[in-house]
Amino acid sequence: MKDLNINNLLRENIKNIKAYSSARDEYKDATADMVFIDANENPFQSNVNRYPDPQQSKVKQRLAEIKGVKTSQILLGNGSDEVLDLLFRAFCEPNRDNVITLPPTYGMYSVLADLNAVEIQSVLLDDNFEPKVEEILATQDMNSKILFLCSPNNPTANSFNSHNVEELLNNFKGIVVIDEAYIDFSNSDSWLSRLNEFPNLVVTQTLSKAYGLAGIRLGICYASEFIISVLNKIKPPYNVNQLSQDKALERLTRLDEVKKEVDSILTEREILITKLSEISFIKSIYPSDANFLLVKIDDANQRYSELIKRGIVVRNRTTQPLCENCLRFTIGTPTENEKLIETLQLISKS
Ligand SMILES: *Cc1c(COP(=O)(O)O)cnc(C)c1O
Repeated sequence: MKDLNINNLLRENIKNIKAYSSARDEYKDATADMVFIDANENPFQSNVNRYPDPQQSKVKQRLAEIKGVKTSQILLGNGSDEVLDLLFRAFCEPNRDNVITLPPTYGMYSVLADLNAVEIQSVLLDDNFEPKVEEILATQDMNSKILFLCSPNNPTANSFNSHNVEELLNNFKGIVVIDEAYIDFSNSDSWLSRLNEFPNLVVTQTLSKAYGLAGIRLGICYASEFIISVLNKIKPPYNVNQLSQDKALERLTRLDEVKKEVDSILTEREILITKLSEISFIKSIYPSDANFLLVKIDDANQRYSELIKRGIVVRNRTTQPLCENCLRFTIGTPTENEKLIETLQLISKS
């Protein structure tokens, strides 16, 4: 909603909360010859004896350049998981508020809701894995604070129709989080370019997938300056460690390498679709806008254990709504993908 007062959505205790002021926050204009005896650090130099920049300024500057947003519209977290948790803590009153999720989708939204004692209202996607806009808006009540849209969605692999997303952005009276963990594999545009239009829009991205840095845990939140300022007040002061900041910056200056890997994954995705369609027990391969494929097969539990026995670990999604007998395959290296196909062929003949 364009004329929503975001301050009114905040939890009462968050409205006036004071951030912890770290030593590094209080004195930032460091020059090389200054003496820093303010933070009880070990003074002997290694590359990590000092606390890291609590605002991760260099990484944010680079992201701002790449994405065309202001650094004040960016918050970084220890993975998207931390960013999502901060959103719960900023907006959802435990034991009173609720969030809306659209299963089948990423499991962390409901885990974090449980953790924060926030009720979950689930509205299943439709048969084409699209949001049921009317039903979602009818489900919303006074206490519905966040709507989670995962696009491209995990595990269904599709991006949501932009008309549906826009309807929700225009009519949902709370925060709309669009989780774009897989946006770099997608043909659809990021909603980042619409950030300034919707005060309730939060876009999350991550370095864990296309950027190949799952191990450093770096999640990104883009939102209005107001929302970012609130999240900044409640985040742990040094939530992104020095090694992660260094590694992220290094990768973000070599985008040509990232692009090469993404291109390879996209090429492999098409090859894999062709080859999978020749496996007799695969009933359908859902269209993918991500770096994985959701496939419907004859018996997911049986095929899952047959694959495990032959050393291939896939994700069994059969217990998820609308995903009966579905497995999820991440696109691997060309060699890994060939191994998957060979193994599936072997299994289908036995
Ligand atoms: C993998 C994934 C993430 C990434 O989470 P990180 O904590 O940043 O590693 C976020 N959202 C979805 C939907 C994912 O599948």
